Amino acid sequence: MANLDDLYKEIILDHYKNPRNKGELETPPAIKSQGYNPFCGDEVTVYLDVEDDIIKDIKIESSGCSISQSSASMMTQAVKGSKIDEAEDKIYQFKAMMDLHEQNIDRDTDEEENNLLKKNNLGELEALKGVVKFPTRIKCATLPWNTLIEAIRQENDND
Ligand code: ZN
Repeated sequence: MANLDDLYKEIILDHYKNPRNKGELETPPAIKSQGYNPFCGDEVTVYLDVEDDIIKDIKIESSGCSISQSSASMMTQAVKGSKIDEAEDKIYQFKAMMDLHEQNIDRDTDEEENNLLKKNNLGELEALKGVVKFPTRIKCATLPWNTLIEAIRQENDND
């Protein structure tokens, strides 16, 4: 288990040091959405370029802790090139992972967790599940995802 924790730490650190899809997109055509986590001071700006219900491009400008920034970086990889409804599934699954761990934090639910994660197939994003041991950090991890939800909502309003 210690090895897995180390691996997770490595993944988070790698995304923090080398954030994927960092930068800005021209608005319009891209949608811009900003999020802020007052508990930690994290700031995330999501630029979303959607064409024919597909996320053609996504870029992130962010500042803050390693959890929020690595979560943002992993999120861009998870949703870039997918259909909007696939991206919404990923968002739901990620937030469910955070909720699941929050609820079951004091119980031995390895089997249940493994089944859910297997079904979800969140890949590298599973590295972030360790943060639920630190409830204040959950808001760091979910900030980019909530900001993406807002961007998708704006996109839907435009149609
Ligand atoms: Zn934070």
